[in-house]
Amino acid sequence: VLCVAKDFDFFYFVQQWPGSYCDTRQSCCYPKTGKPAEDFGIHGLWPNYNNGTYPSSCDSRNSFDDSEISDLASRLEKDWPTLACPSGDGLKFWGHEWNKHGTCAEPVFDQHSYFQTALDLKNKANLLQALTTAGIRPNGKFYHLESIKEAIRETVGVTPYIECKVDTSGNHQLYQVYMCVDSSGSNFIKCPVLPHSHPCGSKIEFPSFSDNSNSKNDEL
Ligand code: 5GP
Ligand code: 5GP
Ligand code: 5GP
Repeated sequence: VLCVAKDFDFFYFVQQWPGSYCDTRQSCCYPKTGKPAEDFGIHGLWPNYNNGTYPSSCDSRNSFDDSEISDLASRLEKDWPTLACPSGDGLKFWGHEWNKHGTCAEPVFDQHSYFQTALDLKNKANLLQALTTAGIRPNGKFYHLESIKEAIRETVGVTPYIECKVDTSGNHQLYQVYMCVDSSGSNFIKCPVLPHSHPCGSKIEFPSFSDNSNSKNDEL
């Protein structure tokens, strides 16, 4: 029996809220393919060790090759949009994530299975639906951190970790949701260790990202 070594313990599956990424001192830029829908987007699927450290950039010989994921392009554009400036088509963001994190999930994952796994995890954990079912909507209102975590726990089965961002008015905003996934990439698990990230207050803003909502700059 062949045994394939894996050199990490679990993944962080990280999703970002575009309304918070774009509502900061730094600007954001919509992808060349257009403004993303009002939904969480994937940031990355990051191999991690149980002690809180993580490997990175593990294989420079297998750098990102977009021809290996061309069949996933439309799903990636929708579910893994890039918001960094200048506007891009996503290849730079996906390439960065593969080269830095994805190569550390080899040999169990190749480029295609790595991106496919992340897309499938996003479908499995429909965060926006979990939140709206609990009455938590992206409307610029403030919600208790604990009720956000509870709403996600009820549908996904495990408690997520929430990272916040501080906007120009000093408000804490829901920015990224971390969920832990076993090393096979198929099951959400209780996090072996929590990420180090910006803390949240007990009540946090859930900014909108809809077409007809005003950005902070529009209100000034
Ligand atoms: P930041 O310093 O903005 O929190 O993280 C910068 C980048 O470092 C992240 O986007 C990610 O690529 C990597 N990173 C930060 N924290 C972790 C972690 O706990 N685990 C892993 N695997 N990567 C991380
Ligand atoms: P990480 O923080 O994962 O190491 O690096 C993220 C890299 O991808 C940064 O260089 C960042 O500029 C780029 N990037 C491109 N689009 C996005 C995006 O939509 N969100 C985030 N967080 N980073 C992005
Ligand atoms: P505890 O693990 O005891 O609930 O919380 C320890 C610290 O982590 C507290 O400062 C608490 O506010 C913070 N904390 C707990 N859960 C989260 C979370 O999901 N996101 C963030 N950013 N901080 C959290």
